[in-house]
Amino acid sequence: MTLKLDSGKTSGGSKSKPENWYDTAQICTNGHVINEQLISSPHIKKKFCDRCGAPTITKCQHCRVTIKGAYHTRTTTSSWTRPSFCPGCGKPYLWTEAKLKAAQELSDELDNLSPDERSLLKKSLDDIVRDTPQTAVAVNRFKKLVAKAGKPAADAFRDILVDVLSEAVKKSIWPS
Ligand SMILES: [Zn+2]
Ligand SMILES: [Zn+2]
Repeated sequence: MTLKLDSGKTSGGSKSKPENWYDTAQICTNGHVINEQLISSPHIKKKFCDRCGAPTITKCQHCRVTIKGAYHTRTTTSSWTRPSFCPGCGKPYLWTEAKLKAAQELSDELDNLSPDERSLLKKSLDDIVRDTPQTAVAVNRFKKLVAKAGKPAADAFRDILVDVLSEAVKKSIWPS
């Protein structure tokens, strides 16, 4: 009879963990976070999202670089926010793409805006989800056009974009 050693008890051997390290995050393709500490808490793992049914990923869909999870030090785990872009290839993650697409589709349906204004609004969306020198200009333009589009549209944009925008952009679009 052979007894298998519990694989959870391999620590304390010759292999020492680095003191500060990034965990891996598991996120569904729509952006629901399953687990931001997949390595240290591997029991919280899902093939599909329990909120929307979409498949989950732990790597960039373009370059296969691992999605960074929470940062551990010997004594603490820092707070973590879901990334919008991949640091390996610079492309938006699937959830960022999905939100951007939804916001662009919404722009196309705004009857209060002229076709030119709609395309300007769509262009500004690309810049407000990123942190670039153009962001401040785009935020300004976005605010004006959305104000013209009306409150229901403004609320819908907020619902779509609120969790992909940076704190700074959020503050300048929706102060307070
Ligand atoms: Zn989901
Ligand atoms: Zn990538």
